[in-house]
Amino acid sequence: MPTAVLAPPSKIPRTDAASRPSTSLARTGQTATFSTGLAPQRRVEDFPKFVKDVAGTKVPFAMRQALFATMYSTFKDLYHRFHQEHPNQAFDDAVMQEAEVYAKSNKTSYKNAMISSIASLKKRPVPDKLQHPSVGSEGTRAQRSSSTASPPEAYTLTLSDVEPLLLTTEVMRLYGIPMEIPSGPGGTRSDATGEEVKCDRCGNGVILKPGRDSMACQFHWGRVVRSSTGGEISRTYGCCSAPYPGSAGCQFGPHVFMEKDLDRLHARHAFTSSCAVERPTQLDIATIDCEGIYTTQGMSVARVSVCDGSGKLVFDEFVRPDDGVEVIDFNTRFSGVTSLDSANLDLVGIRQALDALIGPRTVIIGHAVENDLMMLRMIHPRLVDTIVLFPSNFGLPFKRALRVLAREYLGRSIQQGGAEVGHSSAEDALATLDLVKHYVLDQRRRK
Ligand SMILES: [Zn+2]
Ligand SMILES: [Zn+2]
Repeated sequence: MPTAVLAPPSKIPRTDAASRPSTSLARTGQTATFSTGLAPQRRVEDFPKFVKDVAGTKVPFAMRQALFATMYSTFKDLYHRFHQEHPNQAFDDAVMQEAEVYAKSNKTSYKNAMISSIASLKKRPVPDKLQHPSVGSEGTRAQRSSSTASPPEAYTLTLSDVEPLLLTTEVMRLYGIPMEIPSGPGGTRSDATGEEVKCDRCGNGVILKPGRDSMACQFHWGRVVRSSTGGEISRTYGCCSAPYPGSAGCQFGPHVFMEKDLDRLHARHAFTSSCAVERPTQLDIATIDCEGIYTTQGMSVARVSVCDGSGKLVFDEFVRPDDGVEVIDFNTRFSGVTSLDSANLDLVGIRQALDALIGPRTVIIGHAVENDLMMLRMIHPRLVDTIVLFPSNFGLPFKRALRVLAREYLGRSIQQGGAEVGHSSAEDALATLDLVKHYVLDQRRRK
């Protein structure tokens, strides 16, 4: 049975409309039902129905589905050495390659184009790992080889590169990006101790208690994975392979919670604009990534990393909890944070320090940037988001994980830390920036 690495409960989760209802400010963890990568295994029947363009379909959907099925099984054969371990790679690549063929062909040429595309697949050398050059759709492989010739890492991104990519108000609304400071003074109810909250791990309503009662909550830290063995679909937890639902959690910890509602986030700690002051030191481009931990304030920012347009790490600070707020769980598996003893600044101090780097001219780049903005309580109008630049084939609410995009477009493995080390916001910020560089250079090559 395929094993799949599942998503974290929260580092304010990174993507996907996932199967864990209790978590998520929209991007819950690395994978979800249909996200690319290490997700529940898909079947031919999952071939996205939305490709059926009702108005202008040039090829009958049934024909597309049948040829897709052949392409998928050819990919599965090609990837047989790691198919068990990465059961969705064949599916994802088949979806992408079929879409590429469809885009380049017309009503009469589609069928033959698919047949020759499948034939050329059969001639590829058999890959032994995901990083092998044989892996990927034709389009992805072509992009990869051209970006090896001029690697995106070496390029410095400029304002004129990213301004055409700025999120419109409409897109910002669609993605739940905070655009206005909620009314009221904010920060009036920073600590939730004694309040009833919904636990982000077990999903139960609990009264939040101070102190780290490490036996209070029994939960699974992994996501639910679907897998099929002999045609039977089964659902298990990715952390321990216990069946879903109904199996007792494999881990104990404190109950924790996360605020998702803007007004309540504002009450915990006030939102402010990042455009109040203009300074000469402010960057044209700031790629931001934050790590979050669980406190009595909810999911709170614990580390902030910022890269400039060249990829230089210009800011990397731990964040002290607000006065009167207590850490409940460092959530190290996902946050990479083990202690805040070295943190000098609280969030107000961090935001003041960021004023030197981020102002009205600055374009902020992020991956599911709404989560970073919410943790930083920052309102910023000029945004670029890799979630939007690299959409899921399945459309919203499905989102592709940063880790999956980094592997696919940059050939880079990130977020490999595991339980003891966790993620690094510096590494994630750099990967996010490099993805935008890759996008910009790729657009330029196509012109
Ligand atoms: Zn488990
Ligand atoms: Zn709980």
